[in-house]
Amino acid sequence: MAVEKGIWMIRDALFREELKNMILGQVLFDEPTDRYTSIGVGGKADVMILPQATEELIRVVSYLQDHQVSFIAVGNWTNLIVKDGGYRGAIICLKGLHEISVEDKENDMVSVYAEAGVALGEIVNLSANEAFGGIEFCAGIPGSVGGGIRMNAGAYGSEIKDILEWVNLLERGGKILKVRRDDLDFAYRNLNLPEGSVITGASFLLRRGKREEIRERITETLGLRKKKHPLGYRSAGSIFKNPRGIPAGQLIDEIGLKGARIGDAKISEKHGNFIVNLGHAKAADVLALIEMVKERVLKEKGITLEVEVMIVGDNG
Ligand SMILES: Cc1cc2nc3c(=O)[nH]c(=O)nc-3n(C[C@H](O)[C@H](O)[C@H](O)COP(=O)(O)OP(=O)(O)OC[C@H]3O[C@@H](n4cnc5c(N)ncnc54)[C@H](O)[C@@H]3O)c2cc1C
Repeated sequence: MAVEKGIWMIRDALFREELKNMILGQVLFDEPTDRYTSIGVGGKADVMILPQATEELIRVVSYLQDHQVSFIAVGNWTNLIVKDGGYRGAIICLKGLHEISVEDKENDMVSVYAEAGVALGEIVNLSANEAFGGIEFCAGIPGSVGGGIRMNAGAYGSEIKDILEWVNLLERGGKILKVRRDDLDFAYRNLNLPEGSVITGASFLLRRGKREEIRERITETLGLRKKKHPLGYRSAGSIFKNPRGIPAGQLIDEIGLKGARIGDAKISEKHGNFIVNLGHAKAADVLALIEMVKERVLKEKGITLEVEVMIVGDNG
């Protein structure tokens, strides 16, 4: 019933006018999402909202909740597939929340506070310039602070949760709660959050180190990624979580699925766990490829692959 009311509401002229006038940031109706998702697929979102400050985000979220309109928060759209029928409700993109601040701590530690829309790469750059160690593993991960924490992004044996001190969470009712890392429910490539809560920022605990060593680790990480990942194509990063003991990409390679193609969606020849968009792929092509891989891996290896990438929206 709540969803029905929200769907009707979002077509209402007064609702649209009020939403637009509520913030300085952009409010775009019937906005195609394929131009934002890193894999380049997705239908239209009923509305896309780009708040420019936390106060704007709070106002918008309260308004949507009051009118029972569904919403999701996104950052850099790099682990996201929006289906071809688009998203019924609001997609709130947090790229406009981009402040960073640094605070010195005892024993050569520093706290780096970053708002949700800050790119992980920006903190990596800061760490290279200022010689803050600990976040080098994030070099080349194209996500934002909010998305990285929600996905517990990681690489080469480290995860975001390892360097996290606390997060600011916008809860129902417009209150921001500061939650310490140990009170958060992290898992492999996942953070369980209460429905509707939005990460507005987070503090990372880094250690002052030797600039040259930090830069070297970043360069090494970027080099490994360039060698292994199909960076010349649009993709959503790893499609599947790695099952215990064996990388998903290796399983896909072993059953000969590298290069398999549906429409313009193709399993990368370079890395079996990446699906690349050759130009005009639809979300349906990517999802069909995902189902095909899951079926073949189950049949031939007896392993159920779990999808890592987030899938939202309606079928076309
Ligand atoms: C080329 C490439 C390489 C990649 N390599 C890696 C890698 O090595 N390791 C890895 O872990 N990932 C990797 N990824 C995937 C992706 O970059 C990470 O998962 C990243 O952290 C997602 O951040 P984002 O801002 O793009 O999130 P989005 O794609 O925008 O969102 C992802 C999910 O998080 C939710 N979300 C986003 N922001 C918020 C917020 N503020 N509050 C609450 N929920 C939020 C969204 O609703 C969605 O469910 C790669 C992707 C690409 C394209």
